[in-house]
Amino acid sequence: MAKDKSKGKAKGQGLRVGVDLGGTKILVAVVNADNKVCGEAKQATHAEEGQDAVIQRIVATVREALDDADAKLSAVETVGVGAPGATDIATGMVHYAANLGWQDVPLAARLRDKLGAPVFVDNDVNVGTLAEYLLGAGRGVQHMAAMFVGTGIGGGLIVNGQLYRGFRGAAGEIGHVAVVPDGPTCGCGRRGCLEAVASRTAIERDVQAALDAGRLSVVRDLIAASKRRRLTSGIIAKALEQRDPLMEEVIGRVQRFLAMGIANLVNILDPEMIVLGGGVVESLGQGFIEPVAAAARADFLAKKDAERVRIVPATLGDRAGAVGAALMAGLELARR
Ligand SMILES: [Zn+2]
Repeated sequence: MAKDKSKGKAKGQGLRVGVDLGGTKILVAVVNADNKVCGEAKQATHAEEGQDAVIQRIVATVREALDDADAKLSAVETVGVGAPGATDIATGMVHYAANLGWQDVPLAARLRDKLGAPVFVDNDVNVGTLAEYLLGAGRGVQHMAAMFVGTGIGGGLIVNGQLYRGFRGAAGEIGHVAVVPDGPTCGCGRRGCLEAVASRTAIERDVQAALDAGRLSVVRDLIAASKRRRLTSGIIAKALEQRDPLMEEVIGRVQRFLAMGIANLVNILDPEMIVLGGGVVESLGQGFIEPVAAAARADFLAKKDAERVRIVPATLGDRAGAVGAALMAGLELARR
């Protein structure tokens, strides 16, 4: 993770620590009383080593981030975790996390025993949304929706200045709004979800199918020349730069689907702002967002002031999860 040049000072007490627990890596940020990041650390998750090893590694990464901040564990007011999958903010349980292989893990309780501070656990997309709302693109708005387009598509909602979790904590799943009846099967098991037609995974599937059918495209050479040998967001960006007709066709379709998803959201919630983030959006930038925004606005039911509903890129990047987890923990601590 790049060091922040404007890195804040730990300034004694009142630190909040945020953990972004991902399937491949654990990112930790230490946030001071001025909401500045004053320490960071990162380790590989190694979920295959099992729950206990991962929890030990979270604790080690937290200690490393505190060292980076020149701070002690005793200065930590609270710890927040953004975990992938189904979590319960009230109990601190991770009910189900497919990419960790976890089921019903009392993560907050287990970390509290090891760290000696109150721990709160929320969904990773919720905390990323909260970070964009409080410190990123959404500063100053009251109603906001965020959509993160990467391997999957995650969504989060801010309503009346607060994270909206819904009755069962299951709100905001914009990636699983159906946009193509009987469309491709989604990771969730249903068919035609937005995630199944507009995520990086969907782009990869559609491009590969066209290549297998014999379509000519620079993508073939770009993948062969790449280290990871697969269609990354970076390769998508390169193919578009070279005006590859196959990639332009696939991305054009993705933009249309994302616009449908956004219009659906706006017609239900009428937010002031839609924040678009995630690997695909970050790699493709403003040139990708503009046609999505234009197509979405054309589908707003209420046309009045449609241009005032801002559709903008996320600004915190990779950091949103860890920073948001710290901010979430601070809010939960104050509320209880
Ligand atoms: Zn789905």
